[in-house]
Amino acid sequence: MDRITIVGLGLIGGSIGLALKAAKLHSVEVVGHDVTRSALGDAKKRGAVDRTEGSLREALKGADLVVLAVPVLAIREVLQDAAPLLKEGAVVTDTGSTKALVMEWARELLPPHISFVGGHPLAGKETPGIEAAEATLFRGAVYALCPSPSAEADAVKVVVWLVENILGSRPFFVDPHEHDGLVAGISHLPIILSSALVSCTTQSPSWREMSKLAANGYRDISRLAAGDPTMNRDICLSNRESLARWIDACINEMQAYRRLILEEGPGLGERFNKVWEERARWMLEREGKVKEQGLDIPSAGDRITSLFFGEWVTKRTRQMMEGPPRPAEPKK
Ligand code: NAP
Repeated sequence: MDRITIVGLGLIGGSIGLALKAAKLHSVEVVGHDVTRSALGDAKKRGAVDRTEGSLREALKGADLVVLAVPVLAIREVLQDAAPLLKEGAVVTDTGSTKALVMEWARELLPPHISFVGGHPLAGKETPGIEAAEATLFRGAVYALCPSPSAEADAVKVVVWLVENILGSRPFFVDPHEHDGLVAGISHLPIILSSALVSCTTQSPSWREMSKLAANGYRDISRLAAGDPTMNRDICLSNRESLARWIDACINEMQAYRRLILEEGPGLGERFNKVWEERARWMLEREGKVKEQGLDIPSAGDRITSLFFGEWVTKRTRQMMEGPPRPAEPKK
């Protein structure tokens, strides 16, 4: 491979460029293109690319691998413009947060000699732009891959090489529709929940006073509402049906919590126990501890006393963090 072109030099494109440059692939030239002039200069200054091109035509010249890291709804236009400019046999991948529409556009717009392998790194942050880019942004993260049915096997290998060897991520092959259904619940619904919290509280007549009391909990849950508005809009508009289903499920759940709170029975405590267990299980599985160390999470049905539960939490948290034991809490 002689040349890799990144289209879109923001957070994700810039981070991919930095990772490529950090890999010191001496024989590979990394070229960058963006519609924003300042992003070109900044990408060069940060060392994310060897060369920048303001013209898409120039940027794509001779590119063996093209990475599209533009907002989801801009991908269609870029694919359309790029289609006649791509080198015969080039491999194209994207980083868009939704996949079904992107795969449809690629099938519709790219010539048959181009292999398209859809991609979505499940890593990132709220701050857009190259300033926030990091070479290590994707390290250890899952990276969803959706090869188009016509993609050559070697093209898939090239994208897997980028994902594994350059970005340090773990490839996860998935059907594009399945991908969108899955990420709607764990990635896109959280954006809506965070945004709904901010709109519901800031529209309250008491917000001026309330805002003075808002602390870490509010900051944590509102974090996703601070994401780039264009990106959030594009994600929602390109995954409407799945997201609408998750919003409905969430409204039902909110109604259930409302009922449990008003009825003052044991149901609310049981519900919080259940979600506590589910989250603990997810955290341990995420750290790979459940399988590796044979850890088991007690269920609410185990009738664990609150004292034992407290010890269990401390022990598991310590194991999870693999840090030194914490000093004992001072006695009250
Ligand atoms: P970003 O920081 O806003 O960067 C996108 C860059 O692409 C901007 O410089 C933008 O310029 C430029 N651009 C827009 N339209 C273009 C076009 N037609 N041709 C060339 N450049 C164009 O966004 P990002 O966070 O890197 O996201 C890029 C993609 O990765 C999105 O599809 C997003 O869904 C996906 N993604 C993001 C995250 C995340 O955490 N941010 C995580 C996983 C996947 P302007 O600013 O002038 O529009």
